[in-house]
Formats: sequence, C-alpha cells, structure tokens
Amino acid sequence: MTTNTTNSAAARELNDELMVELRGVNKWYGQFHVLKDVNLEVRKGERIVICGPSGSGKSTTIRCINRLEEHQKGDIIVGGTTLNNDLKNIETIRREVGMVFQHFNLFPHLTVLENCCLAPIWVRKIPRKEAEAMAMKYLERVKIQDQALKFPGQLSGGQQQRVAIARSLCMNPQVMLFDEPTSALDPEMIKEVLDVMIELAQEGMTMICVTHEMGFAKTVADRVIFMDKGQIIEENDPHNFFNHPQSERTQLFLSQIL
Ligand code: ADP
Ligand code: MG
Repeated sequence: MTTNTTNSAAARELNDELMVELRGVNKWYGQFHVLKDVNLEVRKGERIVICGPSGSGKSTTIRCINRLEEHQKGDIIVGGTTLNNDLKNIETIRREVGMVFQHFNLFPHLTVLENCCLAPIWVRKIPRKEAEAMAMKYLERVKIQDQALKFPGQLSGGQQQRVAIARSLCMNPQVMLFDEPTSALDPEMIKEVLDVMIELAQEGMTMICVTHEMGFAKTVADRVIFMDKGQIIEENDPHNFFNHPQSERTQLFLSQIL
C-alpha cells in the first residue's frame, strides 16, 4: 500500500488551479437549515473524502455541486463557472461533473453499453459508433467489458457500481463526485469498486468522495473533511485527521466507526 507521504498533494505537486469552490454556502429545506456556511476549495487533481454522521449534510453538499439540489446563499464555482440560475452555466457544470450514487441509478431497461452511451450520444452529440467504442474502452477499464450487453438487473451490485463509474467517465468529466458508492454493497464487492476508485485517483482525477471507507481515505485522500449538523467541523490530511482529531465531535465519530 502506498504511504500518505508519497500520495500527498504536496508530493504530487498539484497546481493551484481550483476545480471546485464553495464559498459560504447555505441551504435550507423549507425551514430546516441544512448547510451552514460551507467553505471548500478543491484543486485540480485533489482527492477529498467527506465523512460525518448520517444526516450531517454530506449528500446535500455534493448534490449542490452539480445542482441536483439548489443552494440559497453563497457561491459555488466549478471549473471557473459560477453555479447560478443561468441554465447555460448549469449545463456547463453538469458536463464537467460526474456523479456516482449509492444505489447506482442505472437505467434498468437499457443494457450496460446503452447506459454508457446515452449521455455521450444525446448530450455530447457523439456519433453512436464512436460513443460505443469509447464506452467499451471505459468498460474495459473497470474490467466489465464482457457484461456490455447485459441489463443492470443481471449484474451484481459491485458490477453495477463499476458500470455506473464507467458511465460517468464516458462524459469525460473534470471532477467526479461519489456519494457513499460502496454503502449498498455486500462486503465482498466493496473492494472491486474501491480498486476502481483508487485507480482513478492514481490517474489524477479530481475526486470528492463521501465515504466511510477509512482505508480508502487513508490510502488516497489528500484531505479528509468531517461534517456535522450542516457544518464542516474539521479538515486535515489523513494522518493528522485520524491520529490527532481536534474536535470532540470528530473524536466521537471516529471512535464509533474505527
Ligand atoms: P447525509 O448525506 O450526511 O446523511 P443529507 O445531506 O442527506 O445528509 O441530509 C441532511 C439533512 O437534510 C438530514 O436531516 C435530512 O433528513 C435532510 N434532508 C435531506 N434531503 C431532504 C429533502 N429533500 N427535503 C427535506 N429534508 C431533507
Ligand atoms: Mg448521504
């Protein structure tokens, strides 16, 4: 296993280009104040892990980044484009941001290959043949090319999640968001998905991962962020985050999951 030192952002000499910025982001669901002044800067090539108790606002945070949820106050900037009500900006940002969900969200009535080709053909306007060739390339990368003509329901959870990752990659995103991608998987399938995510990280993908897989965090994260009750409570490099948590809430959380 690689050490954090060789893996760290500093060691990889990241450039300073910001891929994702959240500045004073606030969100309410009705009366409920779900995100409270969330600030986050993610540089190109950086790998961020977000953890925290259930209901702390992790999903809401990353869903705001590609406008699956709308924030009410503060700024979200992705690849230099500000997320506002301008549909053009929203489309630009969605094209740059890939998202992988806990429950895969594949289209059940489409084959694996069709799932991967749909957006490239209809959103990117890539000719079908070309889209299929590209999809096969990404399906190979997640080692599932032999399942291309099956339907999602015929695959295991781990296989479906790898398809979901390949489908995102087909849009050639600048940033990948993961929302607990292994939480719905049987234990023996978690590794095959994490291995794909680790490879992606090693290839330099900018990643924001909500996950409680602390082994993954220790191996690939440049920074670990702890959220509680809609706020970022603490962030640090993995070594210091796990070995020297500062706040009591972080300590309590870690004592419960480690
Ligand atoms: P996490 O991903 O950390 O578990 P979420 O971002 O899903 O947390 O949710 C944060 C809080 O917002 C929770 O209290 C949840 O019940 C609430 N919430 C999430 N989605 C909605 C929604 N669509 N409408 C109202 N409340 C919501
Ligand atoms: Mg969640």
